[in-house]
Amino acid sequence: MGTATAAKPAIDKQALLAKYIAERDKRLRSDGNAQYIQIKDAFAHYLDDPYTPVTPREPKTDHVTFAFVGGGFAGLVTGARLVEAGVTDVRIVEKGGDFGGTWYWNRYPGAQCDTASMVYIPLLEETGHMPSEKYAHAPEILAQCQRIGTQYGLYENALFHTVVEDIRWDEAHKRWVISTDRGDRFTANFIGLGTGPLHVPKLPGLDGIERFKGHSFHTSRWDYAYTGGDPLGAPMEKLRDKRVAIIGTGATAVQAVPHLAKTCGKLYVVQRTPSSVDVRDNRPIDPVWFKDIATPGWQQRWLENFTANQAGGNASEDLVMDGWTDLSRRIRARIMALPRDQMTPKNMLAAYEDSDFEKMEEIRQRAATIVEDKETGEKLKAWYRQLCKRPCFHDQYLQAFNSPNTELIDTDGKGVARITEKGFVVGGTEYEVDCIIYASGFEVGTEYKRRAGFEVTGRDGLTLSEAWGEGMRSKHGIHVHRFPNAFFVQPTQGANLISNIPHNLTESRRTIAAVVKHAREAGAAEVEVTQEAQDSWVAHLLTGFGRMIGAPDCTPGYYNNEGQDPGPGAKYAVGYPEGATAYFKYLDGWRNAGTFEGLAFR
Ligand code: NDP
Repeated sequence: MGTATAAKPAIDKQALLAKYIAERDKRLRSDGNAQYIQIKDAFAHYLDDPYTPVTPREPKTDHVTFAFVGGGFAGLVTGARLVEAGVTDVRIVEKGGDFGGTWYWNRYPGAQCDTASMVYIPLLEETGHMPSEKYAHAPEILAQCQRIGTQYGLYENALFHTVVEDIRWDEAHKRWVISTDRGDRFTANFIGLGTGPLHVPKLPGLDGIERFKGHSFHTSRWDYAYTGGDPLGAPMEKLRDKRVAIIGTGATAVQAVPHLAKTCGKLYVVQRTPSSVDVRDNRPIDPVWFKDIATPGWQQRWLENFTANQAGGNASEDLVMDGWTDLSRRIRARIMALPRDQMTPKNMLAAYEDSDFEKMEEIRQRAATIVEDKETGEKLKAWYRQLCKRPCFHDQYLQAFNSPNTELIDTDGKGVARITEKGFVVGGTEYEVDCIIYASGFEVGTEYKRRAGFEVTGRDGLTLSEAWGEGMRSKHGIHVHRFPNAFFVQPTQGANLISNIPHNLTESRRTIAAVVKHAREAGAAEVEVTQEAQDSWVAHLLTGFGRMIGAPDCTPGYYNNEGQDPGPGAKYAVGYPEGATAYFKYLDGWRNAGTFEGLAFR
């Protein structure tokens, strides 16, 4: 993983930290999240589904055992497990035109997973699918979502192109009532919520953005009709005579830019903050090797190994060997190198910091080495700690700046000044373009109801927004008091393993299937976490180190609420203090005990 072993010049930590702070300060702004605009009204067409036509259907007014909001990985893995547990009428409600979630919408050229396919793509063993590459591309991941849907019969009951508008608990009938924008009003004994953290695209609130007369779109609704090409990587021939600007240089742009650079007549990559771009080292998976390792239980072993290498496990080998595990291995090696009597929290933190400085220095040198134009190479250097922003890995992104048609427009942390009828303005210069592609990311940190698009109303009219008004409260991140028969499928307050979200979901689905099975066998109409159990879980969570992302010197971004005080509720956005490996072990024991301590079945 690009881990040079030759002696390196010592890092001047004070100077480096001063540089981090200076770069952060350039970017801090008082409007925080409000700098972005919600996509609606004049911009509503940005959200149209370019991939699947909407087909008319009759509204549903029936009853199902389990309704799940979200047809991405969370809904699919939970649905599959429920089917295995004998619940055959699972209804997944999804705003896209098919299963896939993120992988339905994000079909931009070059989209691929950043976490190794072997651990990232769910249910590989169950579906018998061998990933084609170490980091599979989006079409293969979407196909796996569809495969899961087909294999477990989840299509039959699914409602696509359907946006949930309201979910409320009906105390009299002990069931949930779900209403949608397609006129549905059906009921379910149980609900699951897995709408994902990043699914509402946002636009930068740039002066004049509505005035642009050329073509424009957001990366999560890629307009292949305009660009030519396809998600499989066919060249975007229609851009040969076009001047294109891509605004934003996050994980999406890092993957799309190399493809744009291949065909655009002229490509402007408009940067506010550089991403850290480490080695990708993608390669095909060898079927002979795969056959050898794919013995029963292989994917669970790989999941556990990847997690053990990241989060508190004692792994003697590293099966995945990538940028994520490289970072953890380095930190561990430095900590283990400390003499026993010096293994204090302070020294361990210092070892962690040293390893981070060293890694980021290597990544910065990578930019300087790969990019031929020295000035551009300098501007592509990321001046922050690795976990201040989403780490990126790519072997063609930095190289794209060596193409004569590709130009980095660095805004020195200020962003685009304004959009005009003909293009965009940076540093007093207007750049005329035919097309603007917004790689400006997704809403994070806006209120729950706005992002979800619906409110959940539990017992006694209590809404989820009220229940979580001062921060999230749950047991295991799954069960919430006064929301009986509801399951939240997401990582926070559970393992909180952000390097591989699917592992969190895989464990949640086991819990949900076991709880539902138990409730049905016990003839219980309701299952709900007790107030006491929830409080004690939350109290335990707060005994940990706190949030691992968003150090005070971090440059603003969605990891740290755009550099603004995230409020008192943020301290609850944490995981199990003992680490993800310990959490999964604990959860396994909790499930297997069969008593589901903390849940009341009535
Ligand atoms: P991000 O939010 O990461 O990036 C948005 C970009 O837009 C940033 O570079 C931001 O700059 C820039 N921007 C915002 N406003 C302006 C402005 N006014 N002028 C210029 N630039 C501006 O969105 P992405 O879609 O790239 O990624 C979102 C997340 O999705 C990732 O962090 C990752 O979690 C996930 N993802 C995962 C992938 C994978 O696993 N393979 C691939 C792609 C995405 P600034 O940094 O200064 O705010």
